[in-house]
Amino acid sequence: MEPTSRPPPRVLPRPPTASRALLVSPARTILRRPSHIAGAGIAPANGEREAMVNHTTASIAEAAPALAAAMANDTLFDTALPPLPTYSLEPTGDVLSWISDFWLSLLLPIAVYWAMSLFFHAIDVLDLFPQYRLHTPDEILKRNHASRYEVARDVVIQQIIQVVTGAALAITEPPEMKGKSHYDVAVWATRLRLAQRAMPGMLSALGLNATALSKSLSAAHPLLAGAIAGGYYPVAATAESSAPGFAPWEMAVAKLIYHVLIPGLQFFVAVFFLDTWQYFLHRLMHVNRWMYTTFHSRHHRLYVPYAYGALYNHPLEGFLLDTLGAGIAFKLTRMTVRQGTCFFAFSTIKTVDDHCGYAFPWDPLQLITSNNAAYHDIHHQTWGIKTNFSQPFFTFWDGLLNTKYKGPRRNRVAEKEREAKSK
Ligand SMILES: [Zn+2]
Ligand SMILES: [Zn+2]
Repeated sequence: MEPTSRPPPRVLPRPPTASRALLVSPARTILRRPSHIAGAGIAPANGEREAMVNHTTASIAEAAPALAAAMANDTLFDTALPPLPTYSLEPTGDVLSWISDFWLSLLLPIAVYWAMSLFFHAIDVLDLFPQYRLHTPDEILKRNHASRYEVARDVVIQQIIQVVTGAALAITEPPEMKGKSHYDVAVWATRLRLAQRAMPGMLSALGLNATALSKSLSAAHPLLAGAIAGGYYPVAATAESSAPGFAPWEMAVAKLIYHVLIPGLQFFVAVFFLDTWQYFLHRLMHVNRWMYTTFHSRHHRLYVPYAYGALYNHPLEGFLLDTLGAGIAFKLTRMTVRQGTCFFAFSTIKTVDDHCGYAFPWDPLQLITSNNAAYHDIHHQTWGIKTNFSQPFFTFWDGLLNTKYKGPRRNRVAEKEREAKSK
């Protein structure tokens, strides 16, 4: 795709004295700075995905309310915003040289599923940690109603469905572009600057004079003085031009928002969505008799779960709960394919760990939340099957809707055997 670039925005000449800014009415300011308004009003946080937005022609009316609100509080200082940088776009390359991001997003979850399963299988076969077993090896043979072959076969079927669905999702994604992150960071810095415009008004509502306060603080605390004045940092103007610049703290906070807070929020929302989706569908499958016998009972043939039994489901259930749930979470949070790959792989790792059959005291995944192998194992027992529906991340919904198992653990053969030996 042709790289596009945005013409540098028009910069308003700075008034020679602070008091001249008083002459600029909010309405006039809006008309004279379309590029700033557009940048502050519409630029997406997730920059690469909306690469082709033409910032100079975006409607003023669209962004006017935000700026008008910001400008509602008159400031005695220069109201010109620092100019936004130009950018050019180029396609985002692949993370790894030997596989495209597209295939990585489809195959990584499968690779981690089997790698982790192999790891736990080795622990199982070599009996490395008998002290942490939730069940004895004997129980796996006697109590499970599905053979290892049937389990592996159905998991492979589910993973084929998962790859096909994932490919359909990835194909419908717009091509990912890079080269715009510094622009998006500057847009966040502009938003921070606009938010500061409310400071003088807020202070005057409290009976404080922002101008006087700012002046008295300017020597000792210039940054604080600038924020109180409504985001006025004369020292931030670059040496080579008279255009105003962002204060270092504005840039640092903008980078934190863009690179850490927003991806973190996307991930958290995706996790919450998947938990919610799975809780209610899973619970429905236990409440509705037809759904249980037709679909979900297959997963419950494993009374003693083991790692690669995690995705042992009826194909339709596997598609609905796992594949579609994660796919909607991905689309809903507008993740990039790379973010999605991490999310899918992490969800896979978590669900394998929840079925591993061991309560390890040192497994970070089992320590992050109380929804772990021991918790989900209860749901696989005849005495706990009507409880602990929450999966795969948190126990939030079980707690809120009172479906958490509260009784003592029964039937734990490994424990009984240990007790017998110690006597
Ligand atoms: Zn169930
Ligand atoms: Zn399960």
